[in-house]
Amino acid sequence: MQLNAPLDMHLHLRDEEMLKNIAHSSAKTFSGAIIMPNLVPPVSTKEEVIAYKERIIKAIGNEKFIPYMTLFFKPSYDKLFLESIRDEITAIKLYPAGITTNSEGGVSGFDVEELRPALEAMSDLDIPLCIHGETNGFVMDREAEFVSIYERLATAFPKLKIIMEHITTKESVEALDKHENLYATITIHHLLITLDDVAGGMLQPHLFCKPIAKRPEDREALRKVALAAHPKVMFGSDSAPHPKHAKEACGCAAGVFTSPIALQLLAELFEKHNAPLEKLQAFISGNAQNIYNVIPLTKTVILEKKPFKVPSDYNGVVPMYANEKIAYSIKEVQNG
Ligand SMILES: [Zn+2]
Repeated sequence: MQLNAPLDMHLHLRDEEMLKNIAHSSAKTFSGAIIMPNLVPPVSTKEEVIAYKERIIKAIGNEKFIPYMTLFFKPSYDKLFLESIRDEITAIKLYPAGITTNSEGGVSGFDVEELRPALEAMSDLDIPLCIHGETNGFVMDREAEFVSIYERLATAFPKLKIIMEHITTKESVEALDKHENLYATITIHHLLITLDDVAGGMLQPHLFCKPIAKRPEDREALRKVALAAHPKVMFGSDSAPHPKHAKEACGCAAGVFTSPIALQLLAELFEKHNAPLEKLQAFISGNAQNIYNVIPLTKTVILEKKPFKVPSDYNGVVPMYANEKIAYSIKEVQNG
């Protein structure tokens, strides 16, 4: 099986030691990725975007990989500022305040008029808005509750591309077809697991993430659009590494680390559901190219159906399915 120019449209590369330890696992098999800006402090100036990009490029060494940079959304951004940074970024990421790792400086109200100057400028400059769409409500309802905010923003800013990040519910899937300017990323773990896998038996910290995995019918709705490569959905791993001690702790950090095994798991899932290879190719790259207007670097990943034992950790980060066997292996990666 051959995949061309895989793209990960939602990735956490972190910084410093962690960046150096894990950047390679994405850069080896992906042609590029949208890099999330939730560092401490968040990436919110031109200088910070440029400096972070340089640190990423240094960390990936000789791999051919484009880090598509994002800025941490602030309602105070004006058109002049956004014009000055337009060429350095691919999107802007909005976090509701305090909803996930390092999101304290995010948006707390979703008043359209308050957000209008920044969002209208983004719309004019054709900068997509990526949103972590969860309210502060009951954990299982947070995303479904946020759908009305997605819809309000999509209606108020009809030319603004809004990406519903890492969707996990049937409500979000339904919203895709109601608004022309709503798009979505879907992770591999939300296509594979439900809350039962996280907490139905012994608690599985390495499957704990935000948004939390939901019900089987939600997973079914996600699978339906992913396996059919609905043109408005694209793969975004939301691979979010934490050191082992932060996951296997009393007070487990949210995030699933999947980047080294994402392509193998997608190959297995699509095959299991008899989805044609061209659908996987569209989900892993083609749709994202259309939605974001990006032309990725040439990279060919050849997968083979040969069991692969997932390592217990990658430089101290425990991946999803650690020590388990998955059906596909990466045989070869060809650059250029
Ligand atoms: Zn994320």
